[in-house]
Amino acid sequence: MGRIRILPDQVANKIAAGEVVERPASVVKELLENSLDAGANRLRVEVESGGRRLIRIADDGCGMLRDDALLAFERHATSKLRDVKDLLSISTLGFRGEALPSIASVSRLLLETRSAEETTGTRIEIAGGKMLRCEEAALGGGTVITVRDLFYNVPARKKFLRTEQTELAHIASLVTHYSLAHPAKTFRLVSGANELLHVTPVGTLEERVYQVFGSQVLEDLVEIGLRGKELFLPPASVPPSQAVTEYRSEPDEPPTRTFRLNGFFSRPQVQKANRNSIFIFVNGRLIRDRLLLHALSSAYHNLMPAAAYPFALLFLECDAEEVDVNVHPSKTEVRFRHGSFVHDFVRDTLRDRLMESRPAPSFSPAPRPSNAAQPAARLPYSEFSQMLENEVPAAATVEIAEPAEAALPDFALRPTAAPAARLDFSAPAIEVAPGPPPSGKLLRRPDTHGEFPPEAIPPPEMSLSVLSDLRPLGQIHESFIIAAGRDGLWIIDQHVAHERILFEQVLKQRAAGRVEMQHLLMPLILQLTPEQQIDYARIAEELHASGFETEPFGNRTIAVKAAPAAVSPSELEKILFEILEIADTELRGASLEDLRRGICASIACQAAIKINTRLEAAKMEWLLRMLAATDCPMSCPHGRPIALHYPTREILKAFHRI
Ligand code: ADP
Ligand code: MG
Repeated sequence: MGRIRILPDQVANKIAAGEVVERPASVVKELLENSLDAGANRLRVEVESGGRRLIRIADDGCGMLRDDALLAFERHATSKLRDVKDLLSISTLGFRGEALPSIASVSRLLLETRSAEETTGTRIEIAGGKMLRCEEAALGGGTVITVRDLFYNVPARKKFLRTEQTELAHIASLVTHYSLAHPAKTFRLVSGANELLHVTPVGTLEERVYQVFGSQVLEDLVEIGLRGKELFLPPASVPPSQAVTEYRSEPDEPPTRTFRLNGFFSRPQVQKANRNSIFIFVNGRLIRDRLLLHALSSAYHNLMPAAAYPFALLFLECDAEEVDVNVHPSKTEVRFRHGSFVHDFVRDTLRDRLMESRPAPSFSPAPRPSNAAQPAARLPYSEFSQMLENEVPAAATVEIAEPAEAALPDFALRPTAAPAARLDFSAPAIEVAPGPPPSGKLLRRPDTHGEFPPEAIPPPEMSLSVLSDLRPLGQIHESFIIAAGRDGLWIIDQHVAHERILFEQVLKQRAAGRVEMQHLLMPLILQLTPEQQIDYARIAEELHASGFETEPFGNRTIAVKAAPAAVSPSELEKILFEILEIADTELRGASLEDLRRGICASIACQAAIKINTRLEAAKMEWLLRMLAATDCPMSCPHGRPIALHYPTREILKAFHRI
């Protein structure tokens, strides 16, 4: 007798559950997606003990017919696909028909559902994949699915679950982000007796972001608006890379695909330690995708330090044929048909929006509480769980109730530490708001000071376009320019400001193929290590195009005959070794453009005015004017901030005049 056997469905479902149901949040994800697919407008999620004891999702969607309700628990039973062709154009979130049988095989599940087409509803009870009960019941329209005791029959899985708070944080993050993807729907998340999220229908994504995170977070974000780009499909003989053209709208064009991007992302000064504040939706599906993550970080290239991450909420929409969602059972990965087009579209759209908004960092004297933020929005799960792991002893299994919740970190976007700057300029250094004296109420303010007419307070200036109007007053430490503007006080780091100016100049010269060069009187001979030799061979051409005339000169030695005009010969050796290092470490495997920008940044940094350098008033004015004219005056090519702004309103507040 043969040794191969077909596994019974119960075993197969349990195996599938291993992939589909990793933790309580995966159950919530699958059930929420089903409710959304069912056209629900009101979605209520209730959990107990971080979802281990109970997860209940109620919706007002289309419900299920009696026969369908039974079928839904069969493996590969779905109403969303008919044949293999449909796989190419999936418009629903689900399609594999695996979620319900998988969840039912590792929990005690109760389904209560009624379709509008039937007068009575259906109640089905399943435990560990075994049907216990199926009966008619008087129910309202829609579906309620209750999942109790997740993994009760899979002890190995249960062991891998984290603390209840961690699991709850995952769930909260998930529900929050689905609520952001569907502003027109009602979402509620309740944990035990606590309501963590409750949002009612609104007309725009901005309003939903406000509902969820509050006004403070909104201020730190740039809205993308709706940006689109078309991809013209090539005739079969043309390679896809040549087929990409800008938008044209003639009706009888060859077939096109439209990509749209919408959402919010943070200004460069918001710097997170990891990627967990990045949420990317493709056609309404929450996914993790390396290509899109890379596009996002490239958009911040030269605006943010390499080790920092932004907050982002991106919604990419495209024709269903352009994206394969059938990559992994949990449907969290996708594959794009035209990956590099998508990558560049996302990167360029974000970069353009960043340039347009030119946001200025402000001193922000004290972190303002984000009052309006909902508790669930204060649970970005990484920071949250990390904090718990650090502070809560492993054995503690406290209910998430008032005390635990009070300990949740605020969902504040501002960096907790200043970005890598040599002089720490972050909030604590400038104590501007000492608060009223203890006996403040008793002291009458003498009215000899005169009132500040409210109309004289300009609206807060968020954009760096005002830099050209600034009046330089002097320097601090011969390093930072102090300037007065229409709205308050500015401090500009002279070195990074000049660095930004030069960086953009060099980049433009490089793009136009007109880098100014100077020939050296004597060629500079450099000795390379074997590794540097390999890097050199790889980037020699790019070096040449950037204004460095070099040639191999015997064994592991190169001769440098000319250099960009901005580089002083005494610094040449240092800068070339720096470029080789960029080529080796940071940019290994990165694009040519990244390398190009890296080289330009090195040149700019070396040639820029140093700190501890005295500047004449005329030179300071020139610097500010030139800075205002750059595409991106908010951060230097290495991502450090250039200018800090202390708005009039904050000055008035600090002097208790408003
Ligand atoms: P899939 O979503 O991939 O089709 P599932 O196992 O998640 O597979 O669900 C199986 C089927 O059960 C769905 O195709 C759908 O017809 C039905 N279903 C599940 N949840 C709901 C719901 N909340 N409302 C209406 N129908 C549902
Ligand atoms: Mg599903």
